[in-house]
Amino acid sequence: MATHTITTPRLTIGGRAVAGAATLPVIDPSTGEPFIEVPAASAEQLDEAVRAANAAFPGWRATSLERRQDAVRAIADVIRANIDELAYLVTIEQGKPLASARGEIGACLRQVDFFGSITLEPRIIKDDETGRVEVRREPVGVVGGITVWNYPILAAMFKLVPALVAGNVIIIKPSPYTPVATLRLGELLQQVLPPGVVQVVAGTDELGPALTGHPGVHKISFTGSVPTGKLVMASSAGTLKRVTLELGGNDAGIVLDDVDPAAVGKDLFWAGFSNSGQVCAALKRLYVPASKFDEICEAIAAEAATVVVGPGLADGVNAGPVQNKPQLDRVRELTEGAIAAGGEAFFSGKVPEGPGYWFPTTLIRGVAEGTPLVDEEPFGPVMPILSYTDLDDAVARANDTDYGLGASVWSSDLDRAAAVAERLDAGSVWVNQHPVVTATVPFGGVKQSGIGVEGSLDGLLAYTNIKVLSIKR
Ligand code: NAD
Repeated sequence: MATHTITTPRLTIGGRAVAGAATLPVIDPSTGEPFIEVPAASAEQLDEAVRAANAAFPGWRATSLERRQDAVRAIADVIRANIDELAYLVTIEQGKPLASARGEIGACLRQVDFFGSITLEPRIIKDDETGRVEVRREPVGVVGGITVWNYPILAAMFKLVPALVAGNVIIIKPSPYTPVATLRLGELLQQVLPPGVVQVVAGTDELGPALTGHPGVHKISFTGSVPTGKLVMASSAGTLKRVTLELGGNDAGIVLDDVDPAAVGKDLFWAGFSNSGQVCAALKRLYVPASKFDEICEAIAAEAATVVVGPGLADGVNAGPVQNKPQLDRVRELTEGAIAAGGEAFFSGKVPEGPGYWFPTTLIRGVAEGTPLVDEEPFGPVMPILSYTDLDDAVARANDTDYGLGASVWSSDLDRAAAVAERLDAGSVWVNQHPVVTATVPFGGVKQSGIGVEGSLDGLLAYTNIKVLSIKR
């Protein structure tokens, strides 16, 4: 089992690492016990961070795009130099296997590769003898980035990198369940950034509204649940902040009747169970043609049997615990409810004995819409598999939800799959894969799964205001 010495990280306010007004215990989900107390910021400390951010903004926005991109490459260097420590912290606080934590940090570096070389030219609408009109992109100012516990470092870097490249400064508030690695990252970044450009303030959920309602913050980029997203939008309205909301999903996948079950079983399984199912755009409901239902269930179960659930630091483990107790209780309740409603847990894996937030890898069949496991987002290692006989009906059932994050179609006929994909209401629809989220492609939800996107030039533009320069000649 890997070990690493943990130094308690501090808040970063105005370029300094400081103690909090209070402390926040953080639990290792593989033991269910606190392993560290991190500093928690008071409202006054948040005010201080907002003042420091506003003081840093004019200098940062005046820095050229190339120099800002040099700075984000320096961030990547810092992350590379500290990857062992950061991955270790992610594993202890989040629960995922160490190799997955390293993978999460690798994805952060790809953010830098992409945004570190992007160009941001003005759009010229007119340039003739009568005048010139150009559309420029200006940074919004101070960004509040609120993140969640499933990919703590990646969620922070998804916001931080494009925000900085676009000329903004940012205050990150990590989830109270997983603040440790993000706080440590904040400390490390002070080596390469001017004071106040990136600050990390941890605290309880109450720090969230303090940030979203703060008059000195100009944009909120939020990742989390739909109910909290609505609160964020309401609170941001008071000062008309710009908002990007990356919220929950209940992604459907539709398998077409031409698939080879043995060929898709593995990918279908991991589409739902990567990161122990704690992925916003994981496959959460799978629609399978009745003609191939048993074979596909068997193929998915065969892959499920390869899963080794255990502490993320242990060798040979490829799935960790559920990250926190309320989430574990929710997954348990939805699963038990589905079984009580007549569902069959046709696969249920092994979990370690003893304490820790363990939940067995579970595949359910024999349930339909109207069961909360199907209608709601479990966000854990359980997936219902539903049968259909009519493809139009499957499409209608897949779309019959307020969520609209991702969806997928599985088929050996790519044209046929693409035609079905066009009919699915989601921000991303994948064919023969699910989910794929990268720095270079926009990712976001429709309906109640969110507003706006992260990733790609579109994601960067969300950290800008349009400014028109119109010259009469
Ligand atoms: P949550 O909404 O409870 O918490 C997310 C963050 O919001 C935390 O940092 C929390 O402290 C903060 N917060 C809580 N109350 C707040 C308030 N009133 N104002 C401002 N901030 C507040 O999230 P959760 O339910 O623990 O996380 C799981 C959800 O996140 C799932 O629905 C999942 O699908 C979603 N998620 C979405 C994405 C995406 O990119 N679309 C990515 C990861 C997770």
